[in-house]
Amino acid sequence: MGGESRSKAFTIEIVKKLKEYADAWKAEYGYWFSVYSTPSESLTDRFNRLDREKYGDIKDITDKEYYQNSFHYDVRKKVTPFEKLDFEMEYPEYCSGGFIHYCEYPKLTHNLKALEAVWDYAYDRVAYLGTNTPIDRCYECDFEGEFAPTAEGFKCPGCGNTNSETADVVKRTCGYLGNPMKRPMVHGRHEEITQRVKHLESSNE
Ligand SMILES: [Zn+2]
Repeated sequence: MGGESRSKAFTIEIVKKLKEYADAWKAEYGYWFSVYSTPSESLTDRFNRLDREKYGDIKDITDKEYYQNSFHYDVRKKVTPFEKLDFEMEYPEYCSGGFIHYCEYPKLTHNLKALEAVWDYAYDRVAYLGTNTPIDRCYECDFEGEFAPTAEGFKCPGCGNTNSETADVVKRTCGYLGNPMKRPMVHGRHEEITQRVKHLESSNE
């Protein structure tokens, strides 16, 4: 078994175990416990920070300064949307408390067929799929597309604008969409978002 499938088998074991506990508590207490694939925004930062304090910088684990939420595929790795869905689709059966899958795209207004192909593929495989495509706007220079991440936040690639009053930046924070210029994210979440690679190529940008 390769490294990735070994790691995955291990994580499935963990999620199964969590579900066993939830089921046992359900029987014991009569309340509906379930495993929630958390989109918690601050946890991505906090758990990593606590582990770094305890274990130091471990390459590709704590030194990223974030942990990924849920069962999401490593945001830094380049895979197709189909491969990403194939990887993630085994987890939700243990996570009835809630979950989301999502794929990252460049601006695809000229290639809606590509989006359709992913949605068709996802339809019979996953229950909830988010589509992340850039819709950032600058009201200084009329730029439309994707703002560039900086150490502190985001800036317009057209004119360098970083003023939240004259720009609109929308990112999938985890499960939900957020506006990081209006409400800045915790450090770990910002790091995670800046590491995300696209799952499809843009053909004419
Ligand atoms: Zn601009």
